[in-house]
Amino acid sequence: MAGPLGDCEARLARARALVEDRRLDTVRAWKAGHPGGLAIGHMPVYVPRPMLEAQGCLAVALFGGGDQVDIIRGDSYFQSYICHIPRSTIELALTGDLEPLDGVLFPSICDVIRNLGGMWKLLFPDRYSDYLDLPQDFDPEVGGAFYVRELGRIAGELERRGARPLEPGALREAIARENRRRAALEAMDALRAREPWRVRASEAYLIARAGAALPAQEHATLLEEFLAAAALREVRYRDNVRVVLVGAFCEQPPFELVLTLERAGCDIIHDDLQLGLRAIDGEIRVPEGADPLEALARAYLEQGTAMASRYIGEGEKGVALVRRVCDAAADGVVFAAASFCDPALLDQPMLERALEGAGIPFTSFKFAENTGQFQVIREQAGAFSDAVKLWGKES
Ligand code: SF4
Repeated sequence: MAGPLGDCEARLARARALVEDRRLDTVRAWKAGHPGGLAIGHMPVYVPRPMLEAQGCLAVALFGGGDQVDIIRGDSYFQSYICHIPRSTIELALTGDLEPLDGVLFPSICDVIRNLGGMWKLLFPDRYSDYLDLPQDFDPEVGGAFYVRELGRIAGELERRGARPLEPGALREAIARENRRRAALEAMDALRAREPWRVRASEAYLIARAGAALPAQEHATLLEEFLAAAALREVRYRDNVRVVLVGAFCEQPPFELVLTLERAGCDIIHDDLQLGLRAIDGEIRVPEGADPLEALARAYLEQGTAMASRYIGEGEKGVALVRRVCDAAADGVVFAAASFCDPALLDQPMLERALEGAGIPFTSFKFAENTGQFQVIREQAGAFSDAVKLWGKES
């Protein structure tokens, strides 16, 4: 029987296989086991997955092709001065890798995702695709009412394509399953912030991303099993600097880049990688007798993370980042944005100003999902880690 270390390794191996499942074999297997069930892909950052689950659909988070895909046709659909994720997503679609998806949702993050949604409609007119307009007004009577209507509209579109009607009881149960997943993610984040040598950021990344195409319940089980095994395994303390990674919420860096930062002496104790799974802070509360769809919408309005795709007051995101750094007892911040990512790069100067005001050191670089050279980043991160160790935070 495998011991605790073996248990961790087994969970990580499963997670890695799920993350590398570019052809969506697990989605194909799910569809074979759920005849008539719809697999609905969604682009980053945030889509209310419990609503899809309540209608018997499998939500599949799409993160482009990473460094596994050679772009041959995808480049011809987009300008050269935008990020990489839309090209590799189109490439995957044109090569048939996304064929198991019955539809794709494009949430309103930025113009690039909007254009990708338009391109999708032109390329695949027979397949369902939809634009999810997330509210930018956080008043429940205005943005909240709009968002509930928008969700109801999408639920109706899914139903017309064979999904179950959206029932309050099923939605309530799906939200409870999502809360379990969310609690397990939070517990993993807390453990790695407390003991980053016990759960490394690269491991947390794999275990979190493994849930991209898993029902919430199954992902929660994987997280809980990994956590239980990690708590028992033998580990060696490392004296690294503690950093918060910011800016990689949509297009994901190559996995090797996360490893590079670790090798350069940085323990990433908090990050916004694949932020969609953590876009709501805390539990989604559905009070007795309340409409669960309204509760889902309200959670987005009131508990939404201060992220780049959220249009909130200039200072709020800076305050939230400084608080995050202080709460996590981090030594500094690493800005890692996808090249040409407007939302991340427009926010960065105001976040930097807030860090300067609080005397928190930071460094920054950009990446593309298929970046293949890491030496420069390793040297930069190593120099940052040495400087923070030598001089620390300004007091
Ligand atoms: S990486 Fe940035 S610019 Fe590109 S699609 Fe994502 S949010 Fe938009």
